[in-house]
Amino acid sequence: MDKIRVRFAPSPTGGLHLGGVRTVLYNYLFARQHQGTFILRIEDTDQNRFVPGAEDYIVECLNWCGLIPDESPLKGGPYAPYKQSERKSSYQKYAEQLVEAGYAYYAFDTTEELEQMRIRFKTDENPSPQYDSRIRMQMKNSLSEPEKARQWKSEGLPYVIRIRMPDNEEIHFSDLIRGDVHFNTGQSDDKVLLKADGMPTYHLAVVVDDYLMKITHAFRGEEWLPSAPAHILLWKYLGWEKDMPQWAHLPLILKPDGHGKLSKRDGDKLGFPVFAMNWTDPKTGELTAGFRERGFLPEAFINMLAMLGWNAGTEQEIFTIDELISQFSIERVHKGGAKFDFEKAKWFNHEWIKRSSSERLLPDVKKYFDQAGIHAEETLLAKVIDLVKERCTLLPDFVDQASFFFLRPAQYDLEPIKGKWNTDKKMFFAEFADKLSSIHTWDFASIEQVFKAHAEEKNIKAGELLQPLRIMLVGGKFGPPVFAIAELLGKEETMGRIKEVTGLLGE
Ligand code: GLU
Repeated sequence: MDKIRVRFAPSPTGGLHLGGVRTVLYNYLFARQHQGTFILRIEDTDQNRFVPGAEDYIVECLNWCGLIPDESPLKGGPYAPYKQSERKSSYQKYAEQLVEAGYAYYAFDTTEELEQMRIRFKTDENPSPQYDSRIRMQMKNSLSEPEKARQWKSEGLPYVIRIRMPDNEEIHFSDLIRGDVHFNTGQSDDKVLLKADGMPTYHLAVVVDDYLMKITHAFRGEEWLPSAPAHILLWKYLGWEKDMPQWAHLPLILKPDGHGKLSKRDGDKLGFPVFAMNWTDPKTGELTAGFRERGFLPEAFINMLAMLGWNAGTEQEIFTIDELISQFSIERVHKGGAKFDFEKAKWFNHEWIKRSSSERLLPDVKKYFDQAGIHAEETLLAKVIDLVKERCTLLPDFVDQASFFFLRPAQYDLEPIKGKWNTDKKMFFAEFADKLSSIHTWDFASIEQVFKAHAEEKNIKAGELLQPLRIMLVGGKFGPPVFAIAELLGKEETMGRIKEVTGLLGE
């Protein structure tokens, strides 16, 4: 078998939807599993939809996810360039070859004439007429008016090249997920292949480039299924059928209620991200939230995406990228759409935070402390991460759960203490703070021992003292075990906080 070559071929038109990242992931896993090559090709032939910054954004998303292409516009490779706008000159000859063979034709219709066509041919039977086998002979093209077309062309009238779709042919192809798929060409329009400015459309460019770049497998979203018949015919008409990639059309990612495709609007409405990273539309300034900025780890994001449409056939849900590479199989991807569940996405992140070492988490967590304006010294932060990670679902939770290690609380929630506060307790804490100063080895066990011994001496139940102590150290009723907190805060700070709050509480 030829070396496996797969591609992710985005159009740089905006933020990268999580479905797009899943397409990248499945391509990547398949390539790695077969020691193949994973290619990033930028499909930017539609200049009207070009959005500045979108290409760099895609590259950054792939970097963040660790899904790095082997060949790309940035890296180059044996089939460069990898950006279709830079390959413009290579498409025209194939479009002309199709015209010569009778599989395509020149069409001279103006925008106004196309608009009129939609009105002129509208009937009850055909409410939205398209440029197809039923209508083409009544339009301005080299099939309906061959003589005139020659003249128009020599006069320099602008024209496009359209595929001539057969009016009633069954097209079959085999899809690795869907099995045998068939279409009747009667439903398909004569798609434009080459535009008046000489740029190919997606339909021509995708086939030519998949051929020239020796793509062996084309995995893409289900939304491309209706375009497949035209693509299959182009492979055949260009004489490349035996080199055609194997197809897999990946299932849609659905709204949480299962009704329709998950859109960026759903995310805005329901309060969760839909893009991989924050995306700001350069035209409108509108910001769409991303998983990265929401505090997801790329390992968790990838793991969650892998499971949206695939499973290993076992109970296992948490997979490292290496496990995914060895266990993934495209045949096990489901046909049906996968419902997106944000709570489940957060569960994956929580699991990954718990499993990750403090070294792994430190740089990411540190960023959130920096953003909050809290200087978190790294040696202490590493220990704090280990202590609180069980309580964190998203990365910003570390700031909420642990800022008190680096800053004295600005406020203390004294209400839960006040009701049961008395002179005995005040005495206890004043003396306890002093006793702490005599501890030589400042650790969990010795702090706990001094605390318990003193409580016994004062004849107060330890249980009644633990919550006040927690609030003194943390500011509120949360956090990891209180003596572990004291250990990390250090002797001076622990004593300082106890004294401060004891003072605030009065008699
Ligand atoms: N350029 C298409 C897109 O934006 C790629 C479709 C394909 O992979 O064939 O999704």
